[in-house]
Amino acid sequence: MERVLYFDVCAIVIMLILFASIFLHKMTKGRINRSFLYGVICCLLAAVFDVCCEMFGIWLPVHEGNTWIRTLFFYGYFVFRNLTAVVYYAYLISLTDTWHKLAGSLWLKLIFAVPYSSVIVALITNPWTGLVFYFDETLQYIRGDGIYILYASSVIYLIAGFCHLMRYRKLFSRSNLVALTLLFPLTAGAVLFQFIFPNLLVEVFATVIALMFIILTVQRPEENVHPALGIANSQAHTFLIKRAFFNHKPFDLILIRLVNHSSILTILGTEVLNQFLLVIIDNIRKLCEENKIHASISYLEQGSFALMIDGKRDMEKTEVLAKQLNRMLKKNMMMEQYMLSLLAHVCLVHCPKDIHDPQTLSAFETSFHTTPNPSGKIIHAAKLIEQSNFHMNAELGSIISRGLANHSFEVYYQPIYSITEQRFSSAEALVRLKDEVYGFVPPGLFIPAAERNGTIYQIGEYVFEEVCKFIKSDAFEKLNLTCIEINLSVAQCMQTDLAAKLIETAGKYQVAPEKINLEITETAVEKSREVMLNNLDTLKNAGFRFSLDDYGTGYSNIQRILALPLQIVKLDKSFADQAEQADMQIVLQNTIRMLRELNLEIVVEGVETKEQVDLMTNLNCDYIQGYHFSKPLPKTEFITFIQKHL
Ligand code: C2E
Ligand code: CA
Ligand code: CA
Repeated sequence: MERVLYFDVCAIVIMLILFASIFLHKMTKGRINRSFLYGVICCLLAAVFDVCCEMFGIWLPVHEGNTWIRTLFFYGYFVFRNLTAVVYYAYLISLTDTWHKLAGSLWLKLIFAVPYSSVIVALITNPWTGLVFYFDETLQYIRGDGIYILYASSVIYLIAGFCHLMRYRKLFSRSNLVALTLLFPLTAGAVLFQFIFPNLLVEVFATVIALMFIILTVQRPEENVHPALGIANSQAHTFLIKRAFFNHKPFDLILIRLVNHSSILTILGTEVLNQFLLVIIDNIRKLCEENKIHASISYLEQGSFALMIDGKRDMEKTEVLAKQLNRMLKKNMMMEQYMLSLLAHVCLVHCPKDIHDPQTLSAFETSFHTTPNPSGKIIHAAKLIEQSNFHMNAELGSIISRGLANHSFEVYYQPIYSITEQRFSSAEALVRLKDEVYGFVPPGLFIPAAERNGTIYQIGEYVFEEVCKFIKSDAFEKLNLTCIEINLSVAQCMQTDLAAKLIETAGKYQVAPEKINLEITETAVEKSREVMLNNLDTLKNAGFRFSLDDYGTGYSNIQRILALPLQIVKLDKSFADQAEQADMQIVLQNTIRMLRELNLEIVVEGVETKEQVDLMTNLNCDYIQGYHFSKPLPKTEFITFIQKHL
């Protein structure tokens, strides 16, 4: 029966294409890439030798004189065909970074070494034993029983590889796992197929198909390598981190952030920036080499790099490298006609000492990329974590959900003093969250987080409803307050149904809208002008009033402010803080005069001392809010406070 070689020929063609692609993408460095490359080479050689073996009798005559070369070709085929399974197992070990497990276990070492050694022994002794194959009197190729040693060897590597992959499946995305698993059923199916139809040589072809799937999903340079910089991207970095934690391998991380990245980008453009980043990468590599430190360098976008270093070495060496990097990144850098001065922050993280899971590390990386570092020295993660409520920050999402579920939000009230009426005439409602683990969580932390994850709507509704209940209570009536101020965050103002909801709730509790003053900020106008103005218009027509909060913190745009239906402007605490400085008094005088001429009332926030109160009174402000009179108080304490001052 004539053997069909087309499958092998196809396999060779595909393999040459894979080969070219690997070299074109420079995917030849590193253990993973190298073991994959070896796999492709083994498969290619197996296919070539298979064709060489089978072409005798099809295209070339068989005679005594060429038996030796046929024998050699068969050897080549068996050696490389069997090596493919070994290399695939090695590839999986590299991918999961678990060579140390193999080194530490006698069983694994035996599984890795014995089967293929048996194959080699069987092949070496074959000329004398004819165990694997021989040629009979008619020069026909005859399989010996020893061929089963070869099959058994491959089966052992495939089973070991499969078990290994399943054990580490959590490291991989679904698609990657499917691609990596595909080789097993494909190979088994092909062996079975060829057993039934021995003239169709599909075994190598099946392996090539599996390798192709892997190169399309797992070994994809587009997904793991930054196209312009040629180093690992943030996805690859995330995988490395996940893998190290999964394998309990200690590592050090040096995080670098180029603070002036975006200004370089805006001024000089992407191309120059990339050339510039390449120079930096080169310098980083040089420093690593000088320090004899092997680091995987990744680019995490927006001017951030991460260097991952094996943590078994002594920490001091990493520390030295971090310091040198910090120094290097402060020098001016000449590139073509540009002289650029860098502004970079460097942070050192020891894992798992400082941070012990990938999620927290990822949250830390994000927070590092936004934390200012005026000192210019290298930042130690341990210190930053200690200082910056980092753990609380990382968990804000769950703290908020916990708070909503357990009803641990509460509304406090801070009295506002009317200078003209000489009494407490209103109050600001300020939300508080007491967490079972972290205690009081500052609103300055959880309000922005709630805006990001959307829970601000629930929190806002809760505060509004609580205030309505309070205003409707008998106790409130006796306090003779004109109104309560409620903060609206930017995200709330951007909600199209905000006005309808507030009007509905106020109606439900039969609260006159005049009793409520909504505090808005200028940022809300910037973010979503149309929705915001619609909301304000509807609310104003319903009878609600508005205060502009935090005036003087941003670049106040008077034109924009005048477009808002405002009653009150609240001067930010920074005014009170600097009120005693001569030039600030000029600013204050003029600001206050202007606001008054525009028919706006003025509240000064954050007034803490008697001197500040006197100054603000002289400057003709209408209201004062601050610790000097009272901190924000729980409802019952607030009622007592006001009653006492009636
Ligand atoms: P804000 O609206 O500017 O509120 C005033 C903040 O200044 C409050 O901080 C208040 O406790 C504090 N404060 C008042 N007087 C003094 C003083 O004399 N000295 C000092 N150092 N601080 C003073 P708090 O309660 O921590 O709130 C922080 C921010 O969180 C608020 O700033 C507001 O933007 C937001 N927030 C608070 N409650 C709510 C709420 O119910 N809804 C929304 N959307 N945001 C809220
Ligand atoms: Ca406020
Ligand atoms: Ca304020």
